[in-house]
Amino acid sequence: ALVDIDEIIGATLTRARPVLEGHKVRVSVLPDLPMLRLDPVLTEQVLFNLLDNAAKYAPHGSEIGLDAWRDGGAVVLQLRDEGPGIPPRDTERIFDMFYRVRKLDHVQAGTGLGLAICRGFTEAMGGTITAANRRDRSGAVFTIRFPVPVAETQKTEEET
Ligand code: ATP
Ligand code: MG
Repeated sequence: ALVDIDEIIGATLTRARPVLEGHKVRVSVLPDLPMLRLDPVLTEQVLFNLLDNAAKYAPHGSEIGLDAWRDGGAVVLQLRDEGPGIPPRDTERIFDMFYRVRKLDHVQAGTGLGLAICRGFTEAMGGTITAANRRDRSGAVFTIRFPVPVAETQKTEEET
């Protein structure tokens, strides 16, 4: 079904509120994004896992950013935090099942499945997800790209 990504973001933020407590959350969703062919439950889980990580690995009181915009034939969702970031050699491996960067870190509990689920769900819906580090300061950046359905692309072209 075609879904409104703005609504999914809103629903996820509501569900994630307890997890995000103690963090500043800055959301910027550009208006008039095209409808996307996504499963709302899977999409919420992807965003939730990323928010959960940002809240878990970045210090209390730090800012978590969530931006959404259109880039040609894709809608881009980007999450950034102010935590330690990802060691450059691990930016692909963190999407493997059970892989955790700090294996002896017993402080931040986890199984290492969250990001594997994010990638599996995102790719199942025709999208991509990648990890990188911020340039402006320490922190991780996760970028999701979902394709805009062809019918939606034509719709916007007819309007303009
Ligand atoms: P789970 O999500 O299953 O509870 P987890 O958080 O350890 O456990 P993933 O979400 O798959 O597992 O993340 C894998 C690893 O990637 C984490 O253990 C952590 O080392 C690193 N990581 C993930 N997100 C961030 C982030 N925002 N900042 C820094 N490191 C991160
Ligand atoms: Mg996690």
